[in-house]
Parts: sequence; C-alpha cells; structure tokens
Amino acid sequence: MRQVFVSDANTYALVNGPDPTIQAPGDVIVKVTATTVCSSDVHILAGHMNTPWGFTLGHEFVGVVHETGPAVQNLKTGDRVVAPAAPWCGSCPTCRRGQFQKCERGGIFGSGAAFGGLGGAHAEFVRVPWADACLSRIPEGVSDAQALTVGDILSAGWTAVKNAVTAPGQTLVVFGAGPVGLSAIHTARLYGTARVIAVDTLPDRLDLARNLGADHAIDASREDTTGIVADLTGGRGAEALVDAAGVKATIDSWEAVAAVGARVAMIAIPAGPVELRLAALLQKNVSLWMGLGDLGHMDVFLELIAAGKLDPTPIFTETVPFDRIERVIGEFIAGKPGLVKPLVTVG
Ligand SMILES: [Zn+2]
Ligand SMILES: [Zn+2]
Repeated sequence: MRQVFVSDANTYALVNGPDPTIQAPGDVIVKVTATTVCSSDVHILAGHMNTPWGFTLGHEFVGVVHETGPAVQNLKTGDRVVAPAAPWCGSCPTCRRGQFQKCERGGIFGSGAAFGGLGGAHAEFVRVPWADACLSRIPEGVSDAQALTVGDILSAGWTAVKNAVTAPGQTLVVFGAGPVGLSAIHTARLYGTARVIAVDTLPDRLDLARNLGADHAIDASREDTTGIVADLTGGRGAEALVDAAGVKATIDSWEAVAAVGARVAMIAIPAGPVELRLAALLQKNVSLWMGLGDLGHMDVFLELIAAGKLDPTPIFTETVPFDRIERVIGEFIAGKPGLVKPLVTVG
C-alpha cells in the first residue's frame, strides 16, 4: 500500500510498503478514505516527540472496515468508521476510570515506537487494535470531513470547553483559532455561554472563528484584548478561558482577562517551561485545568453532527488527493497562508 514513511527528521516520502495484517483477535483493518495533517505531525517530524525514526505518519482518519479479527463483535466489513487519534483498550484500570486518552496499552497512531508502534493514517490501510472499544461507526448523513474531526480536534476543543465553562451565561475567551481553538469555539454552543470571544493574530482564522460561532473576534496583533474583554463583560473579565496556543503571549493575556473565580483550560502543549504569576491567579481564585483531548465521546459528537447541531466542516480549508499529501504536509509545516487544515482524500 502507499504510505507516508518518515525516515529521519523532517524527511518523509509517499512510498509503497506492506499492507497491515490482523495481529490480535480484536483488530480491524480500516481502508482509509480520508486523513488530514495535524500540528502534532509537525512536532513529530521536527523530532520533539523523541520517537525513533522509521514509521508511517498520521493519526487522524476515517475509512471503511476492510477486515475484522475473529473476536470483533460490533463491526463488519463495509462499515464506515472513524478512529480516535489514540486508540484505547477499554479494559485497563486507566480506561475503566474514563481516562481513555491515557490507556495503559494504547498509543498514538503514526507516532512511532515511543507511542505504541501503531500504523499511521497517511496510508491506504491502518490496523486498529481493540476496534470494538474505540472505533465509532459513522451515522448516515455525516460526511468524511465531519467525522474526521471527532477523532481528534473536535473532541480536544470540547474537552477544553467542558473544563473551562462551569455554568450557563459565562463569557468564554478562546486564545488561538487553529483547528483545536476553532473546535472549542464551535462546541461552546453546547454550554449556554453568554458570549464567545476568539483571539488570534491571523485575520482569516478570525473570520473562520466568527463562522463557527464566535460572537467577537480580537486581532491581538493590533487590538487591546484586555480592554475589549473588560468592555464586553462590564469590567469583570471572562469566567472561562481556553488556551489553544500555549505561548507566552496567550498566557500573559489570559492571566490579565481572567475574572474572579475563572477557570482556565490549557489544551495546547507549551514548547518549553512557562512562567505563571501564581500569586495573582490565587488572589483571583483562578483554577487551571490542563490535559489532552478526551476521545471517549466520539459517538456523542457524531450524533450532534448528524442532528445538525454541529458542523465543523469549515475547519478544512482545502481538499487534496492522496498523491499530493507530501506537498500539503510541506505547506502545513511552512504555515501556508490560509491553510488551517487540509482534507486529504484517499482511494
Ligand atoms: Zn491531530
Ligand atoms: Zn486501556
């Protein structure tokens, strides 16, 4: 099968390699119909994840069940499915406590031996372990693009929102309008927020944020975020904050705009140590949640999409065929203007 193979730092190519095979009774082989590129891929390619080279890239995919292991009960050949970026077993002690993203047997697709040695999604076929537990069947009427978001970005954005918004009527500020920040903005409508404010420095991303549900969009490169949030909240500040960028500028900004009793959800992975003014945050009774996306509710998001309550499609700013994936990965790394997330169609 064709696959994007990573052989060294920032060295990858679309090559032919062996098809995956069933290795355990609960495995399913998925024939991929769509995949995408993620900022995690950029980190992996740059060597930030300390995983040995020599693996197929990609962790977000939808497809069709191609083959099932003998123990698979809930899925059959031909079913349309979406996989979580990080598959889980459903039965280890950590899974049984609902922390599926930290499954003791799991890993991350397309991230090499340090993350479970699982196959990558930038390929024509992927082996999915514990398929009954972690694959979701895609309801009729839900497109590949829509379903593709639930296995990573939509779930991650929502995880931040559910940890930041504690009651209806709050003001939510989302810092960073990339795929996860946009997903936070889009899922905020499920929580009865009084207003959602997007903060970024790229005008096209702020337009997308408005498109996906932001009531206000602040261009932090030329506008005063603190002053605008104060004006919009009668001087209180925002009760709910999501940091989907994790850089000094956004951290400084949410420290400034946090209301008394605010909750901050940090869903971005900061590149290095960060400085927090804890005394000031303590004086304002601010609490901080941080973590990875909760991928255990994919069925719920597929149902909300099928019901027309959510439509994350605008996050995909372009569609490219699989034979152009090397080029679009390069454009994604280079930060091509206007490219937020590419939908890569396979097969
Ligand atoms: Zn991802
Ligand atoms: Zn587990």
